[in-house]
Amino acid sequence: MMQKHIEKKMDIKDFLKKDSISREEIVRLLQTEGEERNLLFRKSAEVKQKFIGNKVWLRGLIEFSNVCGKDCLYCGIRKGNKNLKRYNLTDDEILESAQFAYENHYASLALQSGEIESNAFTERIENLLHKIKELSKGEIGITLSVGEQEPEVYKRWFDAGAHRYLLRIEATNSELYKKIHPNDNKHDFGRRQECLKNLQDIGYQTGTGVMIGLPFQTTEDLAGDLIFMRDFNIDMCGMGPFIEHADTPLINYSGTLLPLKERFDLTLKMIAILRIMMKDINIVAATALQAIDPIGREKAIKIGANILMPNITPGKYRDSYKLYNNKPCTDDSAEDCQSCLEARISLADAEIVYNEWGDSKHYERRKGIKA
Ligand code: SAM
Ligand code: SF4
Repeated sequence: MMQKHIEKKMDIKDFLKKDSISREEIVRLLQTEGEERNLLFRKSAEVKQKFIGNKVWLRGLIEFSNVCGKDCLYCGIRKGNKNLKRYNLTDDEILESAQFAYENHYASLALQSGEIESNAFTERIENLLHKIKELSKGEIGITLSVGEQEPEVYKRWFDAGAHRYLLRIEATNSELYKKIHPNDNKHDFGRRQECLKNLQDIGYQTGTGVMIGLPFQTTEDLAGDLIFMRDFNIDMCGMGPFIEHADTPLINYSGTLLPLKERFDLTLKMIAILRIMMKDINIVAATALQAIDPIGREKAIKIGANILMPNITPGKYRDSYKLYNNKPCTDDSAEDCQSCLEARISLADAEIVYNEWGDSKHYERRKGIKA
C-alpha cells in the first residue's frame, strides 16, 4: 500500500503539472532517463515558449582581466596558479570591445574578471561604466560579474549604470562550499550570500548559479541549489558543468567525477527544471556546455535557456582566461564568433533578438514594472 502511494506520488507526469515542485520531486526529475527525460524537456520547452518565446538575447562578454585575489579550488585563474600569464585589458581595449557590441546591435554586454577589492578597481569600473554608457548614448545594458564587493561599491556601480549582476553562489550546501574553497575568511559562504542579498536590495537584476558535477556533490545538493534559487527569488541564472583544470587542487578528485557527458546531461536537466520552477527568469546557456558538446549551448536553448554570452574579448587574451580545460573559442576573434552565432541559434529553432536589452521578465514582475 505504502509502496503504491510512493509510486503514484513519483509519477513525473503528475508533478510536472504542479506549480510547486518539492525537493524529493526535483531529485526524481534529475534522475529521469529515456521517455521520462524527454517528457521533462518537452515540458520545459513548452514553458519557455509560453513565457519567454523562442528568443535569445545576447550579452557580449568581455573577460577583461584574469588577475584574481582569490584561490577557489576549482578555478584555472585562481591566484595560486603560477602557470598562467596574467593580463588586464587597457581601458581603450575594453571600450573598443564595448563599441563592437554596440555596433553589432548586441544591446547588452557583460564585464567579467577575477575578483579584486580595492579603491583603484572600484574607481576604474565606475569610470568604465560611465564611458560605455556615453559611447552607446545610454543604449547598452551592462551586466557585471566581478565577485564579492562591499555594498557601497555595488551601489556606486549601480548608480554609474550597471543594472544586472551575476554572482554564482557556486554551491548552496555550506559543507560542499567549504570543500571547494580554501578554509579562510576570504572564501566565506556567509559573505557570498550577503553579497547576493545586497545586490538584490540595491536594485540590481540579480543572477546566481552553481557548478554541476563537482566532486562531493550529490543529487540532493543540486535539488537544494534549485530550491535556493527559487526561495531567493533570483532574476537570472548562469549555471554550467564543472570542468576540471589541470593546475587546480580539485584535479586530484578527477577520478571521483561523473563522466563529462553525464555532467552535461545533468546541467540540461537543471536548466529544464529551473525553467519549470521559475518560468520568466533569464537563464544563460553557459559556455562550459560548449566545451563538452559543440552544440551544447544550442541544446540548452531548446529546453529552457534564453541568454547567450558570445565572447567579444580581444582574441589574443582569450587563451589566458582558461577557467577549465578545453575552453572553447579561445583563438577566435569577436568577428569570427559573430559570424557563427546566427547559424548556431537557428539550429535550436530560436531567433536572436538584436537591439533589445532582454531584461528579466521576472524582475519586471517582481518590481511591478509593465513590460
Ligand atoms: N571572479 C568572479 C566570481 O568568481 O564570481 C567572476 C568570474 S569567475 C571566473 C566566473 C565563474 O566561473 C565562477 O562563478 C565559477 O562558477 C566558474 N568557474 C570557475 N572555474 C570553473 C571550472 N573549473 N569549471 C566550470 N566553471 C568554473
Ligand atoms: Fe577568482 Fe572567480 Fe576564479 Fe574564484 S572563481 S578564483 S573569485 S576568478
